[in-house]
Amino acid sequence: MKNLVPVLLLCLTACSAPGPDLILYNGDFWTGNAEDAPVTAVAIQDGHFTALGVDSEVRALAGSDTREIDLEGRFATPGFNDTHVHAQSAARFLEFNIMQTGTQEDFQQRVSDVVDGLAEGEWILGGFWGAYDEWTSGSAGGQARDKFTPNISLVEDLTAAHPMFIRRFDNSEFAANRPALEAAGVDIQNPEAEGVEFAVDGNGVATGIMTGPGVRGLFADVVPDGFSLARRMEQTRNALAVAASYGVTSFSDMSDDTQLEIYRALRETGELTMRVHFRYFLGRWQELAAQGIEVGSGDEWIRLGALKGHIDGIMGTSSARFFQSYENDPQNYGRWRQLMVDEQGQFVEGQFLGYMARADSANLQLSIHAIGDEANSLLMDYLEILNATSGDRDRRFRLVHAQVIAPQDFARLGNLGIIAEVQPYHLADDMRWMEERIGTERSRGAYAFKTLHENGAVLAFGSDWPGTSASEYPINPLYGLYAAVSRQTLAGTPAEGWFPEEKIDIETALRAYTLGGAYSSFEDDIKGTISEGKLADLAVLSDDLFETEPKDWLDTEVVLTVAGGRVVFER
Ligand SMILES: [Zn+2]
Repeated sequence: MKNLVPVLLLCLTACSAPGPDLILYNGDFWTGNAEDAPVTAVAIQDGHFTALGVDSEVRALAGSDTREIDLEGRFATPGFNDTHVHAQSAARFLEFNIMQTGTQEDFQQRVSDVVDGLAEGEWILGGFWGAYDEWTSGSAGGQARDKFTPNISLVEDLTAAHPMFIRRFDNSEFAANRPALEAAGVDIQNPEAEGVEFAVDGNGVATGIMTGPGVRGLFADVVPDGFSLARRMEQTRNALAVAASYGVTSFSDMSDDTQLEIYRALRETGELTMRVHFRYFLGRWQELAAQGIEVGSGDEWIRLGALKGHIDGIMGTSSARFFQSYENDPQNYGRWRQLMVDEQGQFVEGQFLGYMARADSANLQLSIHAIGDEANSLLMDYLEILNATSGDRDRRFRLVHAQVIAPQDFARLGNLGIIAEVQPYHLADDMRWMEERIGTERSRGAYAFKTLHENGAVLAFGSDWPGTSASEYPINPLYGLYAAVSRQTLAGTPAEGWFPEEKIDIETALRAYTLGGAYSSFEDDIKGTISEGKLADLAVLSDDLFETEPKDWLDTEVVLTVAGGRVVFER
């Protein structure tokens, strides 16, 4: 309604039609549609594309109230739809992490940065140091650096007003500053606690570094469960701004309920620059069903109706579930997750399928995490049973990660209508350890995007931002496109690509990062391509992805992001 006054005034004086809200012209649009006619301009009104064509046609529609932007010949794509983020963790991780930190100077700098934004007394948590000690980020392995451990004494002054409790990525070491040690009741001069080994200096004084099974218990009661709402709002604003700067206009999030409330609050204040598809934990299906939530619930900014469950672990901790054991750990087959097992951790036949079947009958969409080949295979068995017992309908089942598929299982994907919700950047990061852990033969079925696609799975790309405690996954979709097309690390190795027969072309990759995402939330009729009538979400890039090499995309920048017809990022 705010816009009405100036529009009316202009009409009274200029007496011309207001025209579309926005016209982008002199662009090179990849619309995602198979049309032959080139598109160099689009008109946008009330959040939707209202016209596409060449400059002369579209610019003729301009009225007194139209903003026109010259794209200077640049490449434009439908806005990226990241089908897999953990926004709550990403928001927190952006605020503070030392995963890639290898020097004390960098550690001090990062602590100093986080302290700047904190109210007095707020805790510093997280850390995850050491994840890249053995493998440099972006390498294919073997580029070890010295083991890094933060020197807490260097940040004691900086953090005097902020208790700090941080950890190594694998929980083998923890660190606390003096305020945190005091809060936990530790006598710094004479540190002692059950199950905790304190590192001490020459005078027997605690340095802040701790190991042992008792550490987490010692701090459990003093470390806050979460951050204040104000701090989380600020973290989320920051995360949304980062996402917009990479051309992401939709994402599918798995976070806690407070995060959903934050999105709703930011929407009220006009600060929600991202369409959010929000997924709840599978175990909560009944609660959602009781509230009447089902596929399609919500609206085009905040969409509900999907559930996410986990069937197995992850590669990063060698807990993904395989038919054969790990090459480097012959007793280990990986493990099943909660809902698959009883309280003693024993597999319970039919239990997980029961959750799936009941949620499915409540018309909730299922998306299930599966990494190892046995996990993926078992899920396909479950889906076949679901089709046989509850009817074969358009479920858009999301096989989350679809990371390692056994050779005999690829052919089942298409018949089951499976959406492969995959994160191509994983391969650029994970190839550093894949073959050492599962061997060459099994690795052929890993991140096998081409074979997934050729077997009829719908590819829906995402980032898994911000990653696990062992790996950092950036949200930048250009990294994902690079990984899918080149199958190389960020450093460009191996030269031919890792299992190069699984490379896909840029058009397939772009579609997976745009329309594939829209399809996976039952929204391909309203977004995912630049089409008349669809939601006006797009990104303008510094380079034409069809005219440049994958290695160039690592430096390609987003110069303009439009979500719902509104410019949400401009470089
Ligand atoms: Zn994830």
